[in-house]
Amino acid sequence: MPGRVEANPDRTLSAKRSIFGALAYMTSRPGAEAFVASQMAPDEPALALALGEGLVRSPRRVLALTAHPDDLEFFAGGTLRRMALAGSQIFAVVMTDGEKRGNWTDLGGQRRSEQEAAARFQGYASVKFMGLPDFGLPEDPRLEHLVARTWDEIAPEVVFAFDPKELLPQTANRDHKALGRTVMDLARARMQTGAQVYFYGTHHPSVLVDITPVIADKLQAVKAHQSQMVFLDEAETDRTIQSMARMAAGASGCAYAEPLYRLM
Ligand SMILES: [Zn+2]
Repeated sequence: MPGRVEANPDRTLSAKRSIFGALAYMTSRPGAEAFVASQMAPDEPALALALGEGLVRSPRRVLALTAHPDDLEFFAGGTLRRMALAGSQIFAVVMTDGEKRGNWTDLGGQRRSEQEAAARFQGYASVKFMGLPDFGLPEDPRLEHLVARTWDEIAPEVVFAFDPKELLPQTANRDHKALGRTVMDLARARMQTGAQVYFYGTHHPSVLVDITPVIADKLQAVKAHQSQMVFLDEAETDRTIQSMARMAAGASGCAYAEPLYRLM
């Protein structure tokens, strides 16, 4: 077992600042939303929306994998909320406690409690923390084993994870990519289970989930992660999330969407 991989707090802080800064900047620029929407529009928006409706409407057994507390709600909170409301059982698994957060204080305990509150609000069946090091997933040999074991234990019909192909350098995160790559590597051997795998946080979606009916829930679920609300105030957070959802919706015909890429 290798030693714990220590994050560089300065690096973590500047990464987080640049992500939120880039998003807030984007949402404040006239024309920026339309540009991003056109860049990330699926080839067939109507088909993408129909696939999204098919995904969220019938109850499924769902494994929702993520790297840090708040990622699931931020990137796929509307989708998971709609699935939970339709009767899906959502088993959330968070690989780290997000304990570094970009300062010198260990906030893992607080961030776990916030994730638990968000999970209750969202209606997840359970939330489990794997305790791997924040900002250390790419180097951690336990990652693949834990994801594989969890996948086989839960036996999901639908798996969610990060898109490993992060196209925007401002928002690229090595933990996110490492998790996405691991799921991609494990997916092949599980094809015969019939599980569907969807990547969230994607910029090349093949599926759009209409989250218009639950956009207020998404804002509330994200803001359950109060310790992360340090770079944007509440109103800025709402604006940023709504802007991202408008960009994903683009010209598809709904007001707010979350983009997904279906791997299998
Ligand atoms: Zn994250």
